[in-house]
Amino acid sequence: MRKIVFATHNAHKLEEVKMILRGTIDVVGLTDIGCTEDIPENADTLEGNALAKAMYVHEKYGFSCIADDTGLEVDALDAAPGVLSARYAGEPSDSARNIEKLLREMEGATNRNAQFRTVIAFVADGVPKFFEGVIKGKIGFERCGEKGFGYDPVFIPAGYEKSFAQMDASLKNKISHRALAIKNFKCFIKNLNQ
Ligand code: IMP
Repeated sequence: MRKIVFATHNAHKLEEVKMILRGTIDVVGLTDIGCTEDIPENADTLEGNALAKAMYVHEKYGFSCIADDTGLEVDALDAAPGVLSARYAGEPSDSARNIEKLLREMEGATNRNAQFRTVIAFVADGVPKFFEGVIKGKIGFERCGEKGFGYDPVFIPAGYEKSFAQMDASLKNKISHRALAIKNFKCFIKNLNQ
């Protein structure tokens, strides 16, 4: 296999994935194959959403495809917001309102443990495969930092004193849930190519 589609319209995500997989496999995005539609994400698990996106592209366009889905899983909230992370405070998706809701729900919680979890589904011929990346950390008591996106201002990865939003992108992209999931996929492809 020489080429795969990464089912995303997000140019930053595409660049991140291309960089990690450089030299292993060529990666193109949805725009590159003429797919302009928004692929629905209606499943109730990260695995279900990632698989639905990868299957959609494979069946409609015939390419081998990877797709990802990520959730923030907070211990004190029984792993919420999880698969609903993007729309935690309702539609349309709004990071500021999501963070506000998260901090409100966690008022008085002493257990601040949480994790970001990314699931990648890979669909080619045969049985679909899944790859996971997890980064553990804590939810801060207030927003810190301006970089990044989503819940970055309130997520402090284990082993660090700053939030994702206070880190340079180069460091975050090295240790993130998404990077770990892609690296797991890379190991699989490398073994396949041997
Ligand atoms: P997606 O599956 O990558 O679209 O992620 C779903 C939601 O999880 C996003 O809308 C964000 O709210 C949150 N999220 C995913 N990755 C990150 C991250 O690296 N930092 C902060 N929030 C994230």
